[in-house]
Amino acid sequence: MIASGSKGNCTCATTSDGKKILLDAGIPYKKIADKVGYVDYAIITHEHGDHAHLPTIKKLLANGTDIYMTKGTRDKLKLENRHNLHTFTADIIMPPLRIADCWLKGLKAYHDAAEPIVIQLYDAEDRVLYATDTKHPPNWCGEENAFTKVLMEANFSEPVLAESEIEESRKNRVYENHCSIERVIEHFAHLKKYEGTKLDVLPKLKEIHLIHISKCHGNAENFKAMLGKVINDKPIYTH
Ligand SMILES: [Zn+2]
Ligand SMILES: [Zn+2]
Repeated sequence: MIASGSKGNCTCATTSDGKKILLDAGIPYKKIADKVGYVDYAIITHEHGDHAHLPTIKKLLANGTDIYMTKGTRDKLKLENRHNLHTFTADIIMPPLRIADCWLKGLKAYHDAAEPIVIQLYDAEDRVLYATDTKHPPNWCGEENAFTKVLMEANFSEPVLAESEIEESRKNRVYENHCSIERVIEHFAHLKKYEGTKLDVLPKLKEIHLIHISKCHGNAENFKAMLGKVINDKPIYTH
């Protein structure tokens, strides 16, 4: 995790053959270069500046990094076609894209952006879910969605947001476009119902990361404790 939150988001995944894949690039290029050096690939969830810092995207493209995003995101960022900019459409029936020795699937996110996605990235060993800036976590059960590492937005707490003194329109925007800790908990509570059945995906899960936590309407320690009551046998990290 290089950065998480409304000021900027960027995570680096390393493949088994040592290639680096950025999930979002919403921070200045120097911060990325200082932390991980050369980046082979980047996947951008949507055009908002905290996920797609335009000068960084341009610098990565100029450096030869292969970047993946939806057509809607590319159009919003006004990026011209070039050999290392790859676009696709977010769809449940989308065939996975090959990136290094991994596969990428972009599923529709529920967010006020042109064509935002939730990222699924997997190889022979791991299945990673990166779900941020989406009202709901994706539907998720069954063997093919048995994630080993989950990075999920827990932007706000619903009662805290309801009590907040920010403008009503801003409140609604957050409520409708970001994921609350309550929705994350509901999601995991739902998965727990399948425990011991064929649809149980939890045994494969190795770690949970709560990301994009709001400074005003979130509290990392509380969120970790709240989710820990439902999922008490997996490490939970907050960012
Ligand atoms: Zn964001
Ligand atoms: Zn956003």
